Amino acid sequence: MSKPSVAILGLGIMGSGMARRLLSSNFSLAVYNRNREKCIPLGEAGAFVAETPREAASRAQIILSMVADDTASRTVWLGEAGALAGASPNSVLIESSTLSVGWIQEIAGKAANRGCQFLDAPVTGTKPHAASGELLFLVGGSTEALDLARPVFSVLGRDVIHLGPVGSGALMKLTNNFLCGVQVASFAEALSLIDAGGLDRSKAISILTEGAPGSGIVKRVAERSTANDFTPNFALRWMAKDLANALDSASGKGVSLPTAAAALSEFQQAIAQGLGDEDFSALAKLPKRLSKS
Ligand code: NAP
Repeated sequence: MSKPSVAILGLGIMGSGMARRLLSSNFSLAVYNRNREKCIPLGEAGAFVAETPREAASRAQIILSMVADDTASRTVWLGEAGALAGASPNSVLIESSTLSVGWIQEIAGKAANRGCQFLDAPVTGTKPHAASGELLFLVGGSTEALDLARPVFSVLGRDVIHLGPVGSGALMKLTNNFLCGVQVASFAEALSLIDAGGLDRSKAISILTEGAPGSGIVKRVAERSTANDFTPNFALRWMAKDLANALDSASGKGVSLPTAAAALSEFQQAIAQGLGDEDFSALAKLPKRLSKS
């Protein structure tokens, strides 16, 4: 089967790894990034560097966006220079960024008006998984669109889970990240208690990570805080964005998420203290939480 031509919009931590992976698997690839400097290495590796999302989309059968948030996604898809204006009818548009369910529904409607297929396909996995093709795609949309996109997903991911209609992937991803964000916030609080109580930090961390609380995400934060290395694989500000979007989605369905709200407030404090561009594990660096009494 011949490989579809692909456009990647957004060459941040995740999009750049995915683009490289497609190039190394010999896909014809067009790339677009707001900051043009990030396009240079991809251009040198064989990608066509587009001036606009529209130009990138006009060269591709599969157009995948991997940008920061709803605002960024609106910017790359909409308007005169946006990808939707350049997409051919019958192309498949994929939104892999972690976004609000409301925006996903809106862009899916606009794609349908243009005669394009649309999938929401956010991912689990982080920087190394994007680079090595080991992401897990959480997909919402039609089976027909998914089948057209499979050659791309199979190079970028270890698996694809089809969750239902458009918006299902986005809701699943927000649920996943809400649970992650809450655990990160709880672990950061636990570190404050350990330090304030004079416990041996390294013994305490071993007990927690090797015991029942030692989930994958808790282990990652423990490793990063022990190594004092907060170089971003997943920026702290994007975890706050995901908690906020999870809260919005839940409230739209009449569900309250008090632990997500508490975690979001911790992440917002960290952003206010200048930690937004560090790895989300930098939440553990927030100054000691001392109760007021
Ligand atoms: P990142 O490194 O911060 O990259 C963000 C990308 O969005 C960059 O290409 C940036 O362009 C672009 N962007 C931001 N604002 C924009 C705007 N207003 N207009 C156009 N482009 C804009 O983020 P990332 O870690 O790759 O994450 C991308 C998405 O994947 C996010 O939704 C994130 O939540 C999700 N995600 C991340 C991970 C992870 O571990 N990193 C894992 C799963 C899902 P510039 O280069 O010009 O700033």
